[in-house]
Amino acid sequence: MTTLPLPVDLPEAAVNANAQVVLAKRYLMKGPDGSPLEDVRGLFWRVAAAIAAEEAKYGNSPFAPEDLARRFYDLMVGMRFLPNSPTLMNAGTPLGQLAACFVLPVGDSMEEIFDAVKFAALIHKSGGGTGFSFSRLRPKKARVGSTGGVASGPVSFMRIFNTATEQVKQGGTRRGANMGILRVDHPDILEFITCKERENELQNFNISVALTERFMQAVEKGEDYDLIDPRDKAVVGRQSAADVFSLLVRKAWESGDPGIVFIDRINRDNPTPALGEIESTNPCGEQPLLPYEACNLGSVNLAVFHDPAAPDGIDWAGLTETVHLAVRFLDNVIDASRYPLDQITDMVQANRKIGLGLMGFADLLYLLHIPYDSTEALKLAERIMDTIQGESKSASKALAAERGPFPAYPDSIFGKRNLGPYRNATTTTIAPTGTLSIIAGCSSGIEPLFALAFSRHVMDGEKLVEANVHFVNAMKEAGAYSDSLMEEVTRKGSIAHIGMLPDALREVFVTAMDIEPVWHLKMQAAFQKYTDNAVSKTVNLPNDATQDDIREIYRLAYELGCKGVTVYRDGCKAGQVLCTGDGA
Ligand code: UDP
Repeated sequence: MTTLPLPVDLPEAAVNANAQVVLAKRYLMKGPDGSPLEDVRGLFWRVAAAIAAEEAKYGNSPFAPEDLARRFYDLMVGMRFLPNSPTLMNAGTPLGQLAACFVLPVGDSMEEIFDAVKFAALIHKSGGGTGFSFSRLRPKKARVGSTGGVASGPVSFMRIFNTATEQVKQGGTRRGANMGILRVDHPDILEFITCKERENELQNFNISVALTERFMQAVEKGEDYDLIDPRDKAVVGRQSAADVFSLLVRKAWESGDPGIVFIDRINRDNPTPALGEIESTNPCGEQPLLPYEACNLGSVNLAVFHDPAAPDGIDWAGLTETVHLAVRFLDNVIDASRYPLDQITDMVQANRKIGLGLMGFADLLYLLHIPYDSTEALKLAERIMDTIQGESKSASKALAAERGPFPAYPDSIFGKRNLGPYRNATTTTIAPTGTLSIIAGCSSGIEPLFALAFSRHVMDGEKLVEANVHFVNAMKEAGAYSDSLMEEVTRKGSIAHIGMLPDALREVFVTAMDIEPVWHLKMQAAFQKYTDNAVSKTVNLPNDATQDDIREIYRLAYELGCKGVTVYRDGCKAGQVLCTGDGA
């Protein structure tokens, strides 16, 4: 619970009307009758004080707790950095579960399967999302020794997880989110690839196929590949890699599901192979984790670091300082968090993974007048992420000197190669920042804007109307702003086809749908190059994109070193979260 009283001279938080709505509805602590027990300042102070309080136990902290709490407070209310939603909701409260991402093992027995269902329910209740690999389950129709019956296979069990998730409304604040993964060499892979083809099927799951290097090579060479029984690793069949790949592409074209992850590549980057193999990621794909591992995320808002007086328009010193403070914050979150299972506490404490990422990238590009789909934007992306990665590593090193390295360090890849020591097995992850970006009033993650002006459906059918502030300012500066034009922009979302506007504006103020799919992918790869974990990114495709376009995106993702890809073809599924008027 909060250990420091609310100082009277705390600055107000700079939150806009949309952020107020979201915070009031889901983030402010409420009493038994539903009335708020804190205001926005109170929320950020609760979090800052609770996270700073962890400092005391290390004895040799360079910060006094109240001073650090104020620094953390300023970091958040200045919207320079925000921790993931569970930290904002639960820090300093009796629940105290602060991580967004979990991966749970699913073993091949009734006990283990239903244990996982129960553990997932506990995690969802606390606001976390869960990822599972179902690859260890015996295939459909395999014999069940104890009963003489036949097994129903991974997909049938996923339905149980899905139903359980439906019933637990994540502590009343977040809907349950799951990732389901199956290895491409599992005998039930075809059923898995098509398991979401019927509408409303497995709605609480994102699904991804774990592609192996072997499979990718077989696709390239036009060969068959082995299907393997997970219990004894026996080869139980062979099938055409090209056919499976085509089915994957077709299903992604039809509905966006499944995505793909390159599981061998993920494991090549596993910092602690001695603790196990990575089988799955969290629900949105950006955080690969070991079984029973959890990770807390946080994001720097790049828009705030725009500095017109700086030679290249960016306050690099401010960004560096923020990264260092954010790493200390996230490391403290690990200790402040109460995990729902002892196995999770043990694994988290051993590796101390954190995932610092960013949001507001598209805003920054708008402010700097750099088109998202340009080589200049790719270079900037690399420079920014190289800085965040490098500074987060040096901050983690400094923390290791102060507090000791993560306990699994000696057996980790850093320990074995004499790199480090670091306080954290990983430091960087790029999260979607779905809600954080609303709170900070910036563009989400590394995504381009979905629309320059749009209406957003959030929570219980409520509607928020937003126009991008940088766009509005640029229009005003160019003398092009008018109410009728803004109406048109809200209807269309984009200005690509508003010919009366100057080309310079139309080139810079691009939206997701104006950008060629390959640029989405190149941007993902640029950020991945300097990210320990993975990058949350959707490759948006126009409605008339072909299956070959998706095939090419997958091929390129593999070639450019991405850890996975999610594509989304406009209009391919009903009920998009964001909508732009007539969708033109
Ligand atoms: N997540 C979840 N339920 C949700 C939204 C997110 O479990 O409704 C988890 C999931 O693991 C996701 C991660 O939180 O990958 C980060 O999502 P995001 O950055 O959008 O969360 P935010 O902190 O902005 O709420």
